[in-house]
Amino acid sequence: MSHTWDVVIVGAGSCGCIAAHEISRSGFEVLLLDMKPREKIGDKVCGDALGTHHLKRIGLDLPPEVVVQDVSGVDTYSPDRKTVFRVGGGGLGAVILDRYKFGQFLLNRAIDSGAELSASTRVLSPIIKSERVIGVKVHGDEVYAKIVLDCSGVGGVLRNRMPDGTIDKELKKSELVVAYREIREIKEDPPEYCEIYLDQIKYPKGYAWIFPHGGRTVNVGVGMPSNLNIKPREYFYRYVMDIPILKDSKAVEKGSGVVPTRRPMDLMVWNGIMFGGDAGFTVNPLHAGGIGSSMLSGWLMAKAAIRALSIEDYSLRGLWSYTPEYMQMYGAKQAALDIFRIFLQNTSNEELNYGMHHGIMKEDDVLKASIDGDLHLSITDKVKRVFIGLGKPNFLLELKRTADRMRDVKNLYLAYPETPEGYSSWLSRAKELQRIIYG
Ligand SMILES: Cc1cc2nc3c(=O)[nH]c(=O)nc-3n(C[C@H](O)[C@H](O)[C@H](O)COP(=O)(O)OP(=O)(O)OC[C@H]3O[C@@H](n4cnc5c(N)ncnc54)[C@H](O)[C@@H]3O)c2cc1C
Repeated sequence: MSHTWDVVIVGAGSCGCIAAHEISRSGFEVLLLDMKPREKIGDKVCGDALGTHHLKRIGLDLPPEVVVQDVSGVDTYSPDRKTVFRVGGGGLGAVILDRYKFGQFLLNRAIDSGAELSASTRVLSPIIKSERVIGVKVHGDEVYAKIVLDCSGVGGVLRNRMPDGTIDKELKKSELVVAYREIREIKEDPPEYCEIYLDQIKYPKGYAWIFPHGGRTVNVGVGMPSNLNIKPREYFYRYVMDIPILKDSKAVEKGSGVVPTRRPMDLMVWNGIMFGGDAGFTVNPLHAGGIGSSMLSGWLMAKAAIRALSIEDYSLRGLWSYTPEYMQMYGAKQAALDIFRIFLQNTSNEELNYGMHHGIMKEDDVLKASIDGDLHLSITDKVKRVFIGLGKPNFLLELKRTADRMRDVKNLYLAYPETPEGYSSWLSRAKELQRIIYG
């Protein structure tokens, strides 16, 4: 009989490394598998921005060499660029990471606490026996574990190979964002805030970003849902490069990436397995930031795994606590923001320009929406007159309906059952809401 690890973690990204560190420092045996060679782990095309509240929540201190610079918040530009929403301070401090050094730091931290790394090892599928995941298939071999964590990123190598009817694994093309990004040297000082640009013609159903990246460099990119069949690189050169600060800039790094933007999985565990990070759909659906929530999910999976190992129950029941804890700390907000994503994707430039100009949401409310998933509106009589004048009275009705649905969905996910017994009635309420929202 081959060795059975306490925990096998597939993927040594931010999710997998946080989980590996927490579990191995509690004295359990962890094997971390990644298809990349060790020196490539952490090398990822990304916007590199991370809200510092994510670090505080899991008690992670970053060494100075992994942080390129601090930023105080985000400026969001309306399509006509006449209105800028500045969201900063009050809990939205952020850092720009040296993404590679950050990845290597998390990896070394996991290894230092006792996790074993098997790099250059591609995982192919879960091994399922008697209705339970008992390990994973790798090239030419099998690896056994009491608990397996799928932290394999957007590809979700185990998630996608779970039998139908076990987990909620569907990712629609409209929920997969494709992005193109460059690091560019610019001729003037970079912006102090991260910048987001909205425009339904230039970046349909998505956005462009320019983030400071240390010295006179910026991280600049554009992302849009994959069902539009747009090549983001083409849109980058056609529409992003016309932003004035990029004039005469020079690319020093280029790359593409994909990221899942959807509501949380209905259930993030099954017998012997848990799903986290991009593999477990933990990304913020509104702005597609997923580093912080991937680390949170890794941290929560570790807590659930340690509990399950201490009572020797690796079943769905033994691992159950992960999903309700995730919903409390992030998933409920994520589910609410997914509704706001859909609303925003279906607004026109005209609606965005007027909505932002007339302050349908105050800057503080935008901050609150991004941190808590609560949408507070300021629909004054003047705003009503403006939208009636535009011939768009339904826009405000739809916005109000969106805010109401966000509140209902958030409350439902906050009431996620603490034990498997409550799941079927919770799920039938969730399905009812999902039918209304997603059709
Ligand atoms: C263009 C772009 C910009 C982004 N900008 C930001 C941003 O500014 N801020 C932010 O917070 N988030 C951002 N994100 C999202 C963020 O990068 C991800 O949400 C986050 O990195 C997910 O971490 P993870 O650990 O789940 O997955 P990953 O970091 O993708 O790690 C998965 C690991 O699994 C390994 N793996 C995959 N398949 C296998 C296999 N079959 N066998 C073995 N190993 C495997 C991979 O090699 C990898 O090391 C961006 C994403 C993109 C694409």
